[in-house]
Amino acid sequence: MRHLIKINTLVLLMMCLSLLATAQTKVKKALFIIADGIPADVIEKVPTPNLDMIAKQGKYLRAHVGGDKDAYNQTPTISAVGYNSLLTGTWVNKHNVWDNDIKDPNYNYPTIFRLLKNQYPNKKTGVFSSWLDNRTKLVGDSLAATNYVKIDYHADGYELDTVNFKHDKESAYMHRIDERVVEEASKSIKKNAPDLSWVYLEYTDDMGHMYGDSPQFYTAVEMMDKQVGKIWEAIQYRQKNFNEEWLIFITTDHGRDEKMGKGHGGQSARQRSTWMVTNAKGFNNYEKYYYPGIVDIMPSIAQFMNITIPVNYKREIDGISLTGPVSIVEPKVNLVQGAIDVSWKALNKDEKVKIWVSSTNNFKEGKPDDYKLLAEVPAGTEHALVSVKNMPSTFYKVVLEGRYNTVNKWIVPETKK
Ligand SMILES: [Zn+2]
Repeated sequence: MRHLIKINTLVLLMMCLSLLATAQTKVKKALFIIADGIPADVIEKVPTPNLDMIAKQGKYLRAHVGGDKDAYNQTPTISAVGYNSLLTGTWVNKHNVWDNDIKDPNYNYPTIFRLLKNQYPNKKTGVFSSWLDNRTKLVGDSLAATNYVKIDYHADGYELDTVNFKHDKESAYMHRIDERVVEEASKSIKKNAPDLSWVYLEYTDDMGHMYGDSPQFYTAVEMMDKQVGKIWEAIQYRQKNFNEEWLIFITTDHGRDEKMGKGHGGQSARQRSTWMVTNAKGFNNYEKYYYPGIVDIMPSIAQFMNITIPVNYKREIDGISLTGPVSIVEPKVNLVQGAIDVSWKALNKDEKVKIWVSSTNNFKEGKPDDYKLLAEVPAGTEHALVSVKNMPSTFYKVVLEGRYNTVNKWIVPETKK
């Protein structure tokens, strides 16, 4: 009898352990939605019950686009420019998409889709969008220059279908396109559950350009919220019926001008002012105390999906994960008489920071840079002066490597204004 009890206890214990293991091995999936051209003040004013519901599980955050104002990485507040900052986690000085023509993207800066596929070739990807270029040019689906990265599921390019979506002056066709995009995305999520998906919604920007701050624009935002609700419903279906855990980010690519709310592209506060809604968990002190940017979404997805970013890419990424452990943020660099004055904020003081400097930028041509380790200092000092007398240049890339994350800043030759 005693023997039997022992066995039963053992069986019970094993069942518990296996349940625990199942819970731990949930398949992680991520999806991000870009809703075009909605400034933070508008998303905060218009009722968005679906966004609120998602934010309740994670957070609503004010954020920014545009890089650092008046600095070498200042970035136009233009659509495709913003999308590519999200995809690559870098500002325009690196990814090189300066406007919606997308003439010459620098594919040496990999998108989150490529990082995922490099490490997990069997994981599946999806893009759902009115605009064809999002997949074919920005992600660079099946291009030699992107090492033939593959988007496994896509429904896009509806802007080119003028038979089913006859263009009208009021842009109602664009709302119908977004509806179709959402329908296709929801179907694909339920059926295929791509591991990483991008859903792009355009109608809000059309209404912004046409009417500016207006009832029409606000109605478009409410329509977008309903569409997000449908995607969220598809995600709930997967989480309920499959052993999956989904991360969602909803954001926008730029704000709009202060005066009318019609234009964008410049660097005014409202054009730079954006937002994020996410169901993410485990926020860190970077999220808590600093002002996130669109470039932070890529490292946050990588953190969630357990994507290990190779060191050469880590040294280029301008964003920081909003979740998980973080060492250092807010790097600042100055060239002063043959030395670089480096400062940062330490979020984990009990560690050391390595300071690497390169005077080359071969990375942009896909070749390695010549980084020299110039100092290793306690993170808590938050400051170091490193001599670069032995590597004279007017250009430097400065990389600060902490235990949990790596940040970078450039020093560029001063240009006459
Ligand atoms: Zn836009």
